[in-house]
Amino acid sequence: MSLGGDPLNPPNGKGIGVLEFAERKNCLLGKESMRLPLITVTGHAQKEAWQNKVLPPIERLNGDVWSIPIPFPNNPMRYTLSYLLIGDGEAILIDPGWDSDVGLEHLAAGLRQAGFGLSDLTGIVVTHYHSDHLGMAARLRVASGAWVALGERESLGLKAYEDVDRFVQSDREELTLWGVPADRLLEVAMDRPTVAHLQNLASPDLRLTDRSQVPARGLELRVITTPGHSPGHICLVDEPHGLIFSGDHVLPRISPHIPLELPGLPNPLENYYESLDVIAFEDAMEVCPAHEYRFIGMQRRVAQLIQHNLDRSHEVLRVLESHRPQTVWDIAKHLTWSRGWGSLQAFSLRLAVSETASHVVYLRSQGHEIDVPITEPALVDGL
Ligand SMILES: [Zn+2]
Repeated sequence: MSLGGDPLNPPNGKGIGVLEFAERKNCLLGKESMRLPLITVTGHAQKEAWQNKVLPPIERLNGDVWSIPIPFPNNPMRYTLSYLLIGDGEAILIDPGWDSDVGLEHLAAGLRQAGFGLSDLTGIVVTHYHSDHLGMAARLRVASGAWVALGERESLGLKAYEDVDRFVQSDREELTLWGVPADRLLEVAMDRPTVAHLQNLASPDLRLTDRSQVPARGLELRVITTPGHSPGHICLVDEPHGLIFSGDHVLPRISPHIPLELPGLPNPLENYYESLDVIAFEDAMEVCPAHEYRFIGMQRRVAQLIQHNLDRSHEVLRVLESHRPQTVWDIAKHLTWSRGWGSLQAFSLRLAVSETASHVVYLRSQGHEIDVPITEPALVDGL
């Protein structure tokens, strides 16, 4: 079996083409990984902090742009990098991070160092709806009156008026269909407090469309829609400062989780490949991710991420041939996981299963017949 289709040559015909991948493509699509050029780390203090498992420092980047780490408690990512951009009478915050009192203190300290208070914020742009990005936005909006903006196609997980019980029930039904054993179901499924938490996240005042400018005087911040990690993920490009704010779409070390979610994108991995293509347009700009550390080499990192996902799809195909699995769960348990399948629990187990489901859906879209049950996701509202 081989991978049909060609995620390296999406129909818009730009992006990855500039990577001179024509001669590399066969290698990338082959069964063996190839060694790709490494990125250049620019956030040295951040990388050192990452390795030492401590919070990185507040830093001033090009011009009036600040990087402010916000603690992400009880999570291996440890922190979200929030960015403050100062315009003409504007103070715009990208990704305020997880909502906690200590997080608010860290943010206030960062703003203070830049000469601002919480009430000076004029706008909050969030790359995607996950709680470690959007979490603190509701509280900051109250404190400052700033508007909150998300991508036009971003889901909100669950809207305030939607039925928590129904959501929880359909989540459990889908996981059962994916083969999650009855004795692991409650561990993997979304519980009511988690779903209720999603309902309390800030709903946006503004929706940002692809290629539009963030409405902030004195700043040139262009929106690039990059679905995959979430249905309406966006990146922000600041050409005057030579910066790309990549959210969780492109991170320097880990490969972002691309889950099949209900409701959500019908084929999120396909969207992710397309979104990597559209953001791989510039290798010289500094990439400012929402986790880990800054780097230069967007095209190089995109190439690595494509290869990582293609390798994973190949691994799924190998498991299908060798083990004849009947469910998504059966496939997932035969894949390699960094700390072993047996170590995966609760939310990380959920992530593993939903990532496997996205590979199955993607491979089917490329012509592979894979007979394991998955409900076709209904599109999220507004998609
Ligand atoms: Zn994140």
